[in-house]
Amino acid sequence: MTPRLGAGFAAAYGREPEGVWYAPGRVNLIGEHTDYNGGLVLPFALPLGVSVAAARRDDGVLEVRSHQARAGVTAPIDGGTVVSEGWPAERAWAAYPVGVARVLREHGVGGASLLIDSDLPQGAGLSSSAALECATALALCELYGIRIDRPELARLAQRAENEQVGMPCGLMDQSASLLCKAGHALMLDCRSGLSGQVPFDPAASGLALLVVDTRASHALTGGEYGTRRAECEAAAAALGVEALRDVRDLAGALGTLRDPVLRRRVQHVVTENHRVEAAVGLLRAGAVAELGAMLNASHLSLRDQFEVSWPEADAAVDAALRAGARGGRMVGGGFGGSMIVLVPAEKADRVRDAITAAYARRGWTAPEFLDAVPSGSAARITAS
Ligand code: ADP
Ligand code: MG
Repeated sequence: MTPRLGAGFAAAYGREPEGVWYAPGRVNLIGEHTDYNGGLVLPFALPLGVSVAAARRDDGVLEVRSHQARAGVTAPIDGGTVVSEGWPAERAWAAYPVGVARVLREHGVGGASLLIDSDLPQGAGLSSSAALECATALALCELYGIRIDRPELARLAQRAENEQVGMPCGLMDQSASLLCKAGHALMLDCRSGLSGQVPFDPAASGLALLVVDTRASHALTGGEYGTRRAECEAAAAALGVEALRDVRDLAGALGTLRDPVLRRRVQHVVTENHRVEAAVGLLRAGAVAELGAMLNASHLSLRDQFEVSWPEADAAVDAALRAGARGGRMVGGGFGGSMIVLVPAEKADRVRDAITAAYARRGWTAPEFLDAVPSGSAARITAS
């Protein structure tokens, strides 16, 4: 990827890049829709991500091109927000890097030319957006010699997506991309921003963790994601707590709420938070296979209580379990994207075949599989 980026950069901008930076996508093992409720998540970084070749420029402009986008974009970094400027669809992808540059401008970042390349599927729930933001953020900070610690940089990248792109995402994706360690999952407390490394090496326990791109693409900006957030806020307000994280007595809370929809949302968020704690306990105990039960419980809760699952994910979980998987669940915001399956390594092929066959029977686009090996975080990948 790097030779292609180097040559591509020279062809696009007529000079060499000053460096190439990389940031990975992630999968969240467990803890879905807990992040914006002040709760816990447990993502790990994938061995796939977004790379950015970059060089400074002194005209206060960010010029961005991507091997995965048709149109290049040139924008001043001292503009307002991309959302308020109402960019046309073919420029929309550039809201992520331009948004990051605009947020980092107040920390001393200036203009730059960027060329982007990626081996991470977009819109598959594997967080290509945060990988793009974090690779850009790291590149700009290093180019301009600005030191921002990684938890803070994650918050700034999140701010870029919230304010500039207009996507009200939580802190998980950017934290995973910037903080994960190989062979570990990252337990992140989304309220305090504090995180800890939890050993997670499925292969060492004779297991494989498959990521299945269900090929049902999601469109999360606004829509159902915003509705779920608003429902959680309404439930927290009705219960007199700052966030659903603070609900200690689930039965009491369910008795207080009259709206059945809000009751279901609370049921999911509160139990999902406990499942993250249970999963961390199992991993620390070395009981990796037992995670399967947590994944299954999470999926049922997301399907029936939070109501964000989609038919391709439900069918994949069902087929995987019948073929001998320990567990599986949808990942990401919902309504499309990916799911994960924890399976004894020797049964991985059988599970893949079973899911593919289930899709074929229904006439759906064949799913794609990825062996998810918990990998390292964002880094510079060429010397200066
Ligand atoms: P996810 O983060 O799950 O992949 P999102 O909808 O949050 O899905 O982000 C996907 C968007 O990020 C794409 O539609 C595109 O705008 C942008 N993006 C991600 N990777 C690239 C890339 N390599 N080149 C250009 N844009 C990208
Ligand atoms: Mg995203």
